[in-house]
Amino acid sequence: MSLFRSLKRKREAWNEGVAHATLDPDGPGVARMHLVPPKPLLFKDPPSLLIINGTWFLPLGPSWALVLRVFFEELQKHCENKREISPEEIDLIEKAVVSRVIELYPGTDSNLILEDLKKIVTLAVNIATKGNVPEEVLSGIALEEYGQYMTAPHRMDIILAPMSLNSKRACPLECVCCYADYGDIMDIKKPLETEEWKEIIDKCRAAGIPMLTFTGGEPLTRPDIVELVRYSSWFVTRLNTSGYMLTKELAVELRNASLDGVQITLYSHDPEIHDALVGRK
Ligand code: SF4
Repeated sequence: MSLFRSLKRKREAWNEGVAHATLDPDGPGVARMHLVPPKPLLFKDPPSLLIINGTWFLPLGPSWALVLRVFFEELQKHCENKREISPEEIDLIEKAVVSRVIELYPGTDSNLILEDLKKIVTLAVNIATKGNVPEEVLSGIALEEYGQYMTAPHRMDIILAPMSLNSKRACPLECVCCYADYGDIMDIKKPLETEEWKEIIDKCRAAGIPMLTFTGGEPLTRPDIVELVRYSSWFVTRLNTSGYMLTKELAVELRNASLDGVQITLYSHDPEIHDALVGRK
């Protein structure tokens, strides 16, 4: 590949931004994949970064990254309404990927493209569903090392609900370690509306941030929490909560809305100590 063509392709991938696809969204083994292109540099050829379920960071060379990006795009065309894709459609998608890659790089062996596609998808699914991580991934690249080639962080924490609202605590708990009493700096006069949060979520996506953590205050005090999680299905999403308001029904709703993970803070295994620390004695 000529230097000019290589740089042109890198710039195109960069302009296309972070590519995303979710395989098996309803589980049990969801695989959310975000492909981050590196900054286009003249004399450096850093890999792209495949982030799997917001947890695993897999460096991909230009060929695999291209094949995967085209695969994500073709998959998207068949994924409307989250319906399951038939084996016939998978066949069509694979053929489309091969044909588009050959169009970009005439003369490439079609069997090789198909082989590469199957290898990378199998690898990603095995990592996502079985935690089956090959050595090259473990020792491949650290996020802090790759950061120099990214223009956005891989995760954004969104404080959906305030700790203090109009000088009153806005959370059902009163943890001894809470910042709510730190004065005006922690106090919010008017929480953002649902549509305003959606605009912020859109901006995070446009910036190429693959992962959102909803935190607070207590994010479950927001009546639109399920709607906002559903709106964020392009991202890997996590929720930080005390668990105090997390009913079984709400947990199911959040799961169905595509929430990927929940972090619940427990201060002690001893109920008395725990309740004293969260002000519920
Ligand atoms: S759960 Fe969080 S916001 Fe609520 S009181 Fe405890 S530390 Fe503060």
